[in-house]
Amino acid sequence: MKPATKYIHAGMNPDPSTGAIIPPIYQTSTYVQEAPATHKGYEYARSQNPTRSALEDAYAQIENGKYALAFSSGVAATDAVIKLLQPDDEVICASDMYGGTYRLFTKVFEKFGIKFVYVDTTNAGNVKNAVTAKTKLIWLETPTNPLMNITDIAAVAVIAKANNILLAVDNTFASPALQNPLELGADIVMHSATKYLGGHSDVIQGALMMNDKELRERLYFIQKSCGAVPGPMDCFLVLRGIKTLGVRMKAHCENGIKIAHWLKANPKVAKVYWPGFEEHPGHAVAKKQMKAFGGMLSFELKNNHVDEAKRVLSSTHLFSLAESLGGVESLINHPASMTHASIPREERIKNGLSDSLIRLSVGIEDADDLIDDLNKAIG
Ligand SMILES: *Cc1c(COP(=O)(O)O)cnc(C)c1O
Repeated sequence: MKPATKYIHAGMNPDPSTGAIIPPIYQTSTYVQEAPATHKGYEYARSQNPTRSALEDAYAQIENGKYALAFSSGVAATDAVIKLLQPDDEVICASDMYGGTYRLFTKVFEKFGIKFVYVDTTNAGNVKNAVTAKTKLIWLETPTNPLMNITDIAAVAVIAKANNILLAVDNTFASPALQNPLELGADIVMHSATKYLGGHSDVIQGALMMNDKELRERLYFIQKSCGAVPGPMDCFLVLRGIKTLGVRMKAHCENGIKIAHWLKANPKVAKVYWPGFEEHPGHAVAKKQMKAFGGMLSFELKNNHVDEAKRVLSSTHLFSLAESLGGVESLINHPASMTHASIPREERIKNGLSDSLIRLSVGIEDADDLIDDLNKAIG
């Protein structure tokens, strides 16, 4: 089945009790049993909920995976993956990644004795060199937030397989419409469904997709034991969002191309970070593993005073100044003081994230209006 068809029909089985075409919002905490332990497969809603099951079916299908689990947020999904590990285990992860992932790893899990080794994963050789007998997981994010660095998923998957290490990929920026890491050899795909999957800036949710049944069972055990499950209303919202994923991503990508090129040609702009440019160091790999380059990009002004960046950030009208991304409306963000403030400044600068970097989540409004808005703000 082609992706556009899949996005409309994934998880949509007529409700067995009424025939409702859309999975109902089963707003219930428990299920009545006929006799002790005789039930219809639903015992208690932390463990099972039909609206969530429909969404988990859809999640698996859209990532071309066999299984999926829904979580109350993207970081809750990441949290569940790290809970597969034991004290003394090592994780190799990207030095440039979402600030909340970095915070979870360093501030929460390090104190339980898990060691995180940060490397520049854009060179798969660095990952290979960091492998030790204790490495149990490789955590990738590509494209990265906010520098749009690209890692070769298939190349890292070869290293992971050869050393019997799990490979997890945060696929939030690309969405399943542009990149499918399970097909490139990843064991687990993670999404912040808050972003492109929900697509309308109205829900917080996370997802994990996988092919291995045993891995699914271990993660399901963590999901129900730790309890970071989404409510049925939130599951309904993401199910609705997924239906338009194909058309939305097409529009995000078209606008992304136009805005990236317009910024590049603007004499006041010093640098645009977008993997669609041939001179982007990850362009060839992005072209190989992604279907298009997406709607996320970052840029720096020639006047690289942080005050000038802050002036631009406060001057747009269509681009709202806000954290998050992937919604139909355009957003503008200052990573150094907003999304990535939890990363120490020294670390940020070392990884190339300057105080004056501006990140855009290009929405699906008319590109001419968006360009006009940026033009007036940059001045
Ligand atoms: C937003 C985001 C997360 C965290 O997801 P939440 O839904 O906010 O918990 C993780 N990774 C990336 C790349 C993100 O953009």
